[in-house]
Amino acid sequence: MKACRSCRAIVEKSDTCALCGSKDLTTEFSGLIIVIDPNSSEIAKKLNITVPGKYATNIK
Ligand SMILES: [Zn+2]
Repeated sequence: MKACRSCRAIVEKSDTCALCGSKDLTTEFSGLIIVIDPNSSEIAKKLNITVPGKYATNIK
């Protein structure tokens, strides 16, 4: 499992981020959140997440 450095999305079984198309992925991350409704999630707002999905909270 990897996280996208550009948008924090969790990427599984791929070398490209499905959300932003970036290939800048890392396994060096900690924390995982699942955002269902970005508009009502304070964490999502803080992390600038606008699309529902799984995200890393901390990317090194
Ligand atoms: Zn991305």
